[in-house]
Amino acid sequence: MATYTPMIQQYLEIKRGVPDAFLFFRLGDFYEMFFDDAVLASRELEITLTGRDGGGAERIPMCGVPYHAADNYVARLIEKGYKVAICEQVEDPSQAKGVVRREIVRTITPGTVMEEKTLSGKGNNFIGAVVVEHGVFGIACSDLSTGELYVTSLPGALSTLLDEINIYNPSELVGDAELLEQLKEASNWSRNVPLTSWPMCEEQALQEQFSAEQLASLHGVRRRAVKVLLGYLAHTQKRSLKHLTILNSYEPQQFMILDYYTRRNLELTETVRDRSKKGSLLWLLDRTQTAMGARLLRRWIDKPLLSLKEIEARHSAVEALYQNMILREDLRNELKPIYDLERLVGRISYGNANAKDLHALKLSLRRVPQLVELCRHASNPVLAKLVSSLDACEDIADLIDTVLVDDPPLSLREGGLIRAGYDEYLDQLREASSNGKRWLADLENRERQATGIKTLKIGFNKVFGYYLEVSKANIGSLPEGRYERKQTLANAERYVTPELKEKERLILEAEEKMVDLEYSRFLELREHLLTHLARLQKVAATVAELDVYQSLAVVSAEQRFVKPRMSEGYDLKIEEGRHPVVEAMMEGTPFIANGTALSRAEHSILLITGPNMAGKSTYMRQVALITIMAQIGCFVPAQSATIPLTDRIFTRIGAADDLIGGQSTFMVEMKDIQIMTEQATASSLVIIDELGRGTSTAEGMAIAQAVIEYVHGSIGCKALVSTHFHELAHLSESLQALTNARMAVEESGDHVTFLRKLVPGAADTSYGIYCAQLAGLPNEIITRAYSLLDSEIKQQHAAGISLTRTGSQQAAQTSGVSLTGSSQAMPQQVKEATQPLELGKEAPQQAAA
Ligand code: ADP
Repeated sequence: MATYTPMIQQYLEIKRGVPDAFLFFRLGDFYEMFFDDAVLASRELEITLTGRDGGGAERIPMCGVPYHAADNYVARLIEKGYKVAICEQVEDPSQAKGVVRREIVRTITPGTVMEEKTLSGKGNNFIGAVVVEHGVFGIACSDLSTGELYVTSLPGALSTLLDEINIYNPSELVGDAELLEQLKEASNWSRNVPLTSWPMCEEQALQEQFSAEQLASLHGVRRRAVKVLLGYLAHTQKRSLKHLTILNSYEPQQFMILDYYTRRNLELTETVRDRSKKGSLLWLLDRTQTAMGARLLRRWIDKPLLSLKEIEARHSAVEALYQNMILREDLRNELKPIYDLERLVGRISYGNANAKDLHALKLSLRRVPQLVELCRHASNPVLAKLVSSLDACEDIADLIDTVLVDDPPLSLREGGLIRAGYDEYLDQLREASSNGKRWLADLENRERQATGIKTLKIGFNKVFGYYLEVSKANIGSLPEGRYERKQTLANAERYVTPELKEKERLILEAEEKMVDLEYSRFLELREHLLTHLARLQKVAATVAELDVYQSLAVVSAEQRFVKPRMSEGYDLKIEEGRHPVVEAMMEGTPFIANGTALSRAEHSILLITGPNMAGKSTYMRQVALITIMAQIGCFVPAQSATIPLTDRIFTRIGAADDLIGGQSTFMVEMKDIQIMTEQATASSLVIIDELGRGTSTAEGMAIAQAVIEYVHGSIGCKALVSTHFHELAHLSESLQALTNARMAVEESGDHVTFLRKLVPGAADTSYGIYCAQLAGLPNEIITRAYSLLDSEIKQQHAAGISLTRTGSQQAAQTSGVSLTGSSQAMPQQVKEATQPLELGKEAPQQAAA
């Protein structure tokens, strides 16, 4: 190292402190990167890699970005999951002896970005801290941009920790090294989540951040997690975070538990196929008008409630707006212009709010009294209570209004921010400056008259200041001596006079003073707002909640949802239930409603058979979604619904995304079922689609039966199970709580139609080959499959096992017709017979013909 130049030595010294971040090293107008950072950054940012002599034997790899464009480059690195440490010159280069002193002023990381560019308005950006002690995990998750902080702890397996963490979808995790490794191993995050092992901050730092009241109940792993988080934030941000003052501690059992796969399978916030919001429950329910509302709605969907009282309160608020369209519309109109208050507060606290931000804050606060008024008159106790003690912060809006002009500029360093009348000295300076400008205008006139040159004009540029410009053609008319030449252009000459110079000095001085004074006045205002952050955060929270209520009410009204009856009992009853998202996505064709009744007295397990594409999985998901919607406080797609508080929903649906993890479908299914057997209670809802698929028929069927018996005998929860083993239908004879149902299929004329209607009784065939036909497999394969199936059946029959197959299959096979077709239509020969065909008997005549 000794051979390097002092500057490179300084670089290396600083870089040692941030080995896991790109070091943006300020050098004049550039941030430079060196060595490996430079090589990697040039690749990631597609910028030219150069070299620099640094005193060593070889040139040092180097690349750089202009400081004024750095934001974009930082954003790109952050999006890729990297960290960036910003290192500035912290002394005036002209004063420096030797190398200018430099320091890291902030490290930007994916979990701590504050830049609007990188943050998505409608989503949170969480950083999580995780710790473990004696088998208990502590979690603290914060969104620095909004000031939210959630804390909890949970015992149990790593998978429960992962489920909880996944709810936050964190961009970054810090904490105990080993635990982070294990989490990474067990996770299947689709993006690069940086993990940093980090120690706790000092106890004193914790106490400075939060009030004693907040800290009173923060113990054990929770306290540790918060301290780790705080330590990391302090290290990276290097500034106080005054908006991070509220610890939201919660117990995981306060909410319905939904594991990662269940969330994904039910497409609560994104679709399975392309992870887009469109097509998810969130997409359907999100009619929020503000960014805060959008984020809160997502959190509600992520954490359905378990308290009857709280759920009913939400239903009541939604109902008030559901029933009153005018109120709903008024509210929407008032909410729409409200800016992202949470993030405005975040920026004020962070010290990067500009005048436009404060102006936006003022405009937003001005809406609050009207919102309060609307809620007061909604004759609804929940809405009334929500705003009853709301402090609309009118004093803050007034103050901003007094200090700042309407529509201030983006830049804080060019003046034009402060309203006239707010600062006397500023007004005087302004007066002086405008007098000066008036004087200039007069001068222009005077000089025109004196010289007779009509085109003579006064101009300004940054290099030469004010000047008199005369075109080349008119130079001859200028009097001798009074004008001093400053600049020569192609067609004109520019001059100054001593008088003009003197005025210029006064004008520029006044302007410089004005700009400085305006800036410091602005900073005073922003500093002052720091003392009101908590008040502003309350307004933000109230607006968000109100916004979610109106969103749920709008969707409920539009989609003809009804208010569910919540119960603390066991029985679930849905009349004419619909799948809200499938229904909303369907164009033209109506969605077919189906009821659900699961009760202790009659049947708590429904075994559903029927061909593929008949609507089994849609039906089962709809029951899960209706339960979730009810428990987040929304109305539900049904004619009426009684929903029992459900502590947990397990789903085992679909296989598409399991394969990514490199696990066999069957293994994944078994693991999920293992978790279900361990954790489901009588108050849970279990949904298993195509139980037992992925292994041999005999084994699959055996396992399916054993699982169903276990759910029936040992768990006693409500369950919806679909299977293609129609042979399992006999279970209804031995399991008293189980009943069979199937998706009806109707045949008429040339068509077989899926009626999408759930009817009692079991289907009598698996329709597997029939589905292959629908999928358009070559006829040759279909015929061959039927013939193989036939011989299998014959063999089994010989061994005394009874199996059935459909007449349609027989027909297809014997006639050899082509059986391609849509799910809606099948050729005549096929549709004829869906009756079970007993072995040994002939196929129907017509088919054989
Ligand atoms: P299965 O699970 O039996 O294979 P799905 O539930 O996947 O069938 O349904 C197949 C398709 O049928 C769905 O994509 C949907 O478009 C349509 N569908 C399902 N249920 C209904 C319904 N109740 N009303 C109208 N269309 C439906």
